[in-house]
Amino acid sequence: MTAPCPVSACPRPRPGHLTVCRACSAGLLRDLADVSNLETHLELTLSRQSRTGDRHGSRSADTALPYDERARSALTVLRSALVGWYRQLVDDEPRPGPICRQCSHPSCLWLHRSRPPADNLAAIARWLLRQRAALLGHQAVAEAVDELGAAIRQARRVIDRPPATWYAGPCRVDGCPADLYARHGATVIRCRECGGTHSAILREQWLMAQVADHLGTATEIARALAAFQPGLTPSMIRGYAHRGRILDRGQDELGRPLYRIGDVIALLNERIAG
Ligand SMILES: [Zn+2]
Ligand SMILES: [Zn+2]
Repeated sequence: MTAPCPVSACPRPRPGHLTVCRACSAGLLRDLADVSNLETHLELTLSRQSRTGDRHGSRSADTALPYDERARSALTVLRSALVGWYRQLVDDEPRPGPICRQCSHPSCLWLHRSRPPADNLAAIARWLLRQRAALLGHQAVAEAVDELGAAIRQARRVIDRPPATWYAGPCRVDGCPADLYARHGATVIRCRECGGTHSAILREQWLMAQVADHLGTATEIARALAAFQPGLTPSMIRGYAHRGRILDRGQDELGRPLYRIGDVIALLNERIAG
C-alpha cells in the first residue's frame, strides 16, 4: 500500500509503513552527516571576513549583502533547526517498542537521549543521527525534512563551493576580493576574476593552519583530509592514538575520542620528512 510522500514538492510515493519516502529519509540523514563539514566552512567564511575586512564594495545583487552576514545568518538558521529537533525528540516521552536500533529497550533509549550533545552544530547533528530511528519515525518528520533541508541548502549556497575543489582562501592580488577554489591535484591556482596565480602548496598550508585547532573523531578527520592525504584512514588515526603519537583531546557525546586535526597533520608531515 502506498500514499503520497508528505514532504513538500516530493513527487514520490511512500510505502504505507513509512512516514516519508525512502529518498526523503536518506536525504535527511545525508544532510545531517554533512553538518560538521558545513559548520567548519561557515566558520572559515566568518573568520576570513574578520581578517580581510570589508574593503570591497557591492559587486552584484547576490554579494551586495556582506558575506559574513550571509554566513552568520546561515549558521543561525541551521542552529535553530537542529536545536528545535533535538528539543522535540527530548521532550517526547520514551515510547515502548523497537525504537532504539541497538537494543530497543525504552530505558536505554531514554539514557541515550538524555545525554545532551556538546554545544556545537556538528555534535547536535551527530546526536540526531544517533536518534535517527526516532527522528524518521516521528509523526512530523516531513517538517524535519523540509526545515533541516532548507537550512542546509542555505548553508551550501553561502559556501558555494564548486564540486571536486577545495576552498583556497581569498585571492588578494591587488586587493582582488575573489575566492579561490583549487582542483584536487593542481599545483597552480588561477583566480577566475583577476587571472592572478597562486601556489597550491602554500594555499594548502594556509588552509591546514585554519583548521588545525578543530577537533574531530578519527572518521571525521580522515574524511576532512581525504583530498590532501589520500591514504589516510580512520584506523590509521586510531592507531597513532593507540601508540601515543597523538593525544585524545576529549570525547564526543557518544564517548568516541576526539583528536586535533593539527596534531594529525603534524604527524603526517613528520613521516613524509623522515
Ligand atoms: Zn519524499
Ligand atoms: Zn583575483
